[in-house]
Amino acid sequence: MKLVYVAMGSNIGDGRKCLLSGIKMLETFALGEIRYSSFWNTEPVEMIDQSWFTNAVVEFYTDLSPIDLLKSLQMIENNSGRPSNHLRNASRTLDLDIISYGNYVLETDFLELPHPRARQRLFVLIPLQELAPEFQFPGDDRSLSDLIQVAPSIKIERLDYLS
Ligand code: AMP
Repeated sequence: MKLVYVAMGSNIGDGRKCLLSGIKMLETFALGEIRYSSFWNTEPVEMIDQSWFTNAVVEFYTDLSPIDLLKSLQMIENNSGRPSNHLRNASRTLDLDIISYGNYVLETDFLELPHPRARQRLFVLIPLQELAPEFQFPGDDRSLSDLIQVAPSIKIERLDYLS
């Protein structure tokens, strides 16, 4: 059983609803309770479309392997209306990225752990710090505050709604 962190993002439709329905779908295979951060509105970065995102980070235990977890997350993305020919920087109803899987460090063609870009993304680091202030990326002794200080700046604001 491993503790995993998953980043969620949506910039099509009602972001809060998309994230809440994604969390419901995660419950079908998470072991025990899913803990999640507040929802945050964030400025789009490197995107074709300019719609703002709703982002959050969730924490849960799983007994799925990393690959099976990735496949399950991709099924949820597809069930949320993500087109199969989706481009990396296109808008999306629901995007799910594995930020970390236990303390695994892995590099394959279709899965990298921890997520290779998470440390540069304030829309991941800020909700993650809220949820797990002591979190450190496997193989990296910097604190989340250290990473947040040097990450490229973006506009990010917490939604009134608190989980
Ligand atoms: P995106 O369109 O940004 O969601 O990127 C999805 C692609 O990133 C998929 O083809 C995954 O195989 C790949 N990928 C690599 N590492 C990860 C990870 N840690 N979490 C989710 N997707 C990953």
